Amino acid sequence: MKRSSWGFGQIVLLSLHVSLTTAFSDSILQILPENSGSSPHHRHRHRKIPRDDNLYCDSWRFVVEANDVGPWARIPSRCVAFVQDYVTNDRYRADSEAVADASLEFAKTVKVSGNGKDAWVFDIDETLLSNVPYYAVHGFGCGHRSETFDENSFDEWVDLAEAPALPASLRLYKELEQLGFKISLLTGRTEFQRSATSKNLDYAGYSNWERLILRGPSDHGKPATVYKSERRKELEDEGYVIHGSSGDQWSDLNGFAVAERSFKLPNPLYYIA
Ligand SMILES: [Mg+2]
Repeated sequence: MKRSSWGFGQIVLLSLHVSLTTAFSDSILQILPENSGSSPHHRHRHRKIPRDDNLYCDSWRFVVEANDVGPWARIPSRCVAFVQDYVTNDRYRADSEAVADASLEFAKTVKVSGNGKDAWVFDIDETLLSNVPYYAVHGFGCGHRSETFDENSFDEWVDLAEAPALPASLRLYKELEQLGFKISLLTGRTEFQRSATSKNLDYAGYSNWERLILRGPSDHGKPATVYKSERRKELEDEGYVIHGSSGDQWSDLNGFAVAERSFKLPNPLYYIA
């Protein structure tokens, strides 16, 4: 699990990074570098992807999202443009909104007890926050298990604390709060990234969470499913009832002490076991 060994980034990021995140922090739809100077008309324009690739990659996305493929290390080369198009255009936003709608529909059926123990667990990366601006600069093919993934540059990005919110998740988060759920955040980021993570969550509009749970020293090397299950179990042992859980990886949702309902957000960028 590469995330468990992230180190502090020491090098100041390229100014391109900063200008991208500043310019696009209000919308994950606007992160394509090639669109940065374009008119709104061109902003949502889809790239020309050959019909065969489009069909193949749409099906590839389906089988990875459904976890039919299981662990995968990198986006097929013929699908890199497809994935770039997906995460930077309306499809990703629409899919995320649909997941948020389904989550909310379920949440409204939950009888919130009012004892402060009705919990909802969110993952952070590609769930509450989007790292698409990072991938826009570093290449969409550099998923976390691929040999081209650069932990140092990703740590520097995390340290910037400027990842934008996924708009659908921010909406869901606020609605859940209104409904009386106690929200805990359970992330594969490590304890030393607590302050940057907390700062980034504030920056993106998230507040009032019950817990922010990060990997501690004893979690080093644990598969995400084990680490996250153990931490959910701790919440349950404290009396929390985990009604819902939201994550972009199956390892956010599977294992033990699972939520009553789990909601898988789209992520064709990388797979974390
Ligand atoms: Mg995630």
